[in-house]
Amino acid sequence: MALVTTKAIVLKSMRWGEADRILTFFSLRLGKIRGIARGARRMKSRFGGLLEPFSSINLTFFNKRNDNLGSISHVDSLESFSPLRESLDLIWAASRMAALVDGVTADRDSNPATYHTLVEGLRALVRTDDPPFVALLFQIHILSQSGFQPQVDRCASCGRDLGEHASRFSPSAGGRLCGTCDRGSWDYCLPMSQGSMAFLRQARRIPFARATRLRATGQVRREVENIVETYARSVVGKRLPEKDPLAAEPAAAPYGPPQKNVTAGQSGLHEHEFQSAIHNPQLIDP
Ligand SMILES: [Zn+2]
Repeated sequence: MALVTTKAIVLKSMRWGEADRILTFFSLRLGKIRGIARGARRMKSRFGGLLEPFSSINLTFFNKRNDNLGSISHVDSLESFSPLRESLDLIWAASRMAALVDGVTADRDSNPATYHTLVEGLRALVRTDDPPFVALLFQIHILSQSGFQPQVDRCASCGRDLGEHASRFSPSAGGRLCGTCDRGSWDYCLPMSQGSMAFLRQARRIPFARATRLRATGQVRREVENIVETYARSVVGKRLPEKDPLAAEPAAAPYGPPQKNVTAGQSGLHEHEFQSAIHNPQLIDP
């Protein structure tokens, strides 16, 4: 049994037994890892509030050979990212980002680029006035880094070079289709205009930290959001967290316009309901 220390982000937390938690992290050294925090739900836990979802920490744990579940020994806070747990639109955006990283990465497969993009993504969320757009750019980058780059220049089915004309995007094939493959496809395909192609190329070419300066509006934004949402869902194999599990009205679209920032006091929710939204079922299994 070896003691390992690494920087990590809390992706997910699950209650376990009487007082413990099982946590999923994305770490700098080891990629996605899971660990048990004994006594984490006790009032006077030594972990305090350091293991909240999206927290950036320095994690020390006992790494057992042939066991995927480490035992968490010590945690130091690097960045708490507490604003991401204080408004519903930020909880939603950060949850989607964490769920995508969880969904596209394999256990213990180190990927420092994904770790750094996740940290940058959470920082960008804290600063932005448009959380859905940051989540969109983040998804484009994480999909590309993890081998699921959306194919824009060649037919995703037959590999033929495609021109700049508008065509359709196949989520199951992972890219645009030529006319022949599109006619023969049974897949649910989405329209993709020249503007959307140009935006997607630009968004993935620029480093994430600078991509947040990009802007997309109107039809291009709707198309790209629809394509990336449907494709990410196809890759992850399940629906990503909905915008707001406690919202009175369902979101018109997966990336609907953000509500203004809401805190527990402004949300009309009781504190325990607000906390329940923070610890929503998609972040924390029952
Ligand atoms: Zn083709």
